[in-house]
Amino acid sequence: GGKAYTMMIRCRIPGGRITSDQMLDQLNLCEELANSTLKITTRQTLQFHGVLKDNLRETINRINKAQLSTLAACGDVNRNVMCCPAKRNDGIRSEMVEMTDKLVVALAPQTSAYHELWLTDPETGEKSLEGGGEGDVIEPLYGPTYLPRKFKVGIALPDDNCIDIYTQDLGFLAVVRDGKIIGYNVSVGGGMGTTPSAKKTFPALAMRMAFCKPDQVVEVAKAVVGVQRDNGNRADRKVARLKYLVADWGIERFRAEVEKYFGEPLEDCTEDDVTEVDDHMGWQDQGDGKWSYGWNIENGRLYDNEKHQLKAALRAVCNEFKTNLRMTAHQSIIFCDIDEADKDKLIGLLKENNVPVTEETSTVRRWSMTCVALPTCGLAITESERRLPSIIDGLEEPLAKLGLAAERFTIRMTGCPNGCARPYNADLALVGKAKGKYTLFAGGGWLGDRLNYIYKDLVPDDIVVDELIGIFAAFKANRKDGESLGAFCTRVGGEDLAVMADAAPRP
Ligand code: SF4
Repeated sequence: GGKAYTMMIRCRIPGGRITSDQMLDQLNLCEELANSTLKITTRQTLQFHGVLKDNLRETINRINKAQLSTLAACGDVNRNVMCCPAKRNDGIRSEMVEMTDKLVVALAPQTSAYHELWLTDPETGEKSLEGGGEGDVIEPLYGPTYLPRKFKVGIALPDDNCIDIYTQDLGFLAVVRDGKIIGYNVSVGGGMGTTPSAKKTFPALAMRMAFCKPDQVVEVAKAVVGVQRDNGNRADRKVARLKYLVADWGIERFRAEVEKYFGEPLEDCTEDDVTEVDDHMGWQDQGDGKWSYGWNIENGRLYDNEKHQLKAALRAVCNEFKTNLRMTAHQSIIFCDIDEADKDKLIGLLKENNVPVTEETSTVRRWSMTCVALPTCGLAITESERRLPSIIDGLEEPLAKLGLAAERFTIRMTGCPNGCARPYNADLALVGKAKGKYTLFAGGGWLGDRLNYIYKDLVPDDIVVDELIGIFAAFKANRKDGESLGAFCTRVGGEDLAVMADAAPRP
């Protein structure tokens, strides 16, 4: 026999919305055809790892039979559209969900190739699912060569930037007046990936471009995609993301070109900007008599072992409540529509399966995030998902001793500079640089509106914890009133931070 190639399969789950039955199907699927775990990604979707090449067709068929898809979850097209996952009876969130679905449809490739390849029996020609076009389709939006590079879209609220809008190629920030969305501030050109050896690459936060009304959103999105399709760099994939075009042209020229494609001038952004982030963990009142429970899943990895049975806990809640679920941009799950009377039962089901509930999870762990990295990501240079939990083990006690146990800041870790866990706008980040060595970044922030800087490079794995504790001690000794960790690191700068960290007494 040949080599047993294994694959990663990623679903497309707009806004992270999934039913209990769909989730149960995916849990079965990961056990039967993948490596028995599921990863909740940083884009509110699910990934299967270790799928044997011979099982690809069956896996993709079963994902589609559960009314989910993998179409455009990868590749040089619009990826999974992100949207604030909170369920609220406020009219605003539901409008954002509708807008998400409109964007998914408008930006989906029209090709029939997906159905022909994956959902049609190669021998009999029998289709396992309805849908998909017939014959050759000319892509009205993507054209014959698709986009120069992947493209990411997200919808957020100023007081709830949980989807990290400024890391998206295209962001829509809802502008609310008198409880209604009157339009969106559109931002363009965010993106995390870099290649440290190539100076021309850099992480970027999106720039605010213009305001549009709700009924203009889809056409504005298509105009932005069109400008990138026709002008993005196709000669060099390293600089093919939209952020390089925006940086190259400047926001004024880019906006003028978008307006040409759109057909008329757009208004300027309103003053509304990001002011808060809510990770939606713990119990939240939906405002319709029901409750949501945000269950923090460390690094989004669902597994069962002797210590924790996350899959079993999830199955138990899904079977008991048959409720709607939402996946968050922080790799966690929200159970929606829970009755007041069922709250204790839900927590009981989680505890029976030995999983940490949000209320017992430290703040530092709750706001941490990693990419997949080793052993299944082919690009990984270092550990990440398998390492961060033990790094955090080493931080919890010192943080508590410093009186910082309740301090909110983000620690994000990735196994390479590609930046899948959005490291470059976190308060602190560890990015794999060489075997067993990380670049330590400081100075971003949980609000998502500031990039961090390189604090120290090539930090060996065994001193990472001490380096981080040094930063915390310096912060404790030198912070100004109400200053966040990232703001402090930015104010003092890397050199002074290093001096302060050396001088500060360790807890
Ligand atoms: Fe893989 Fe790098 Fe992305 Fe991590 S950041 S999942 S190592 S490509």
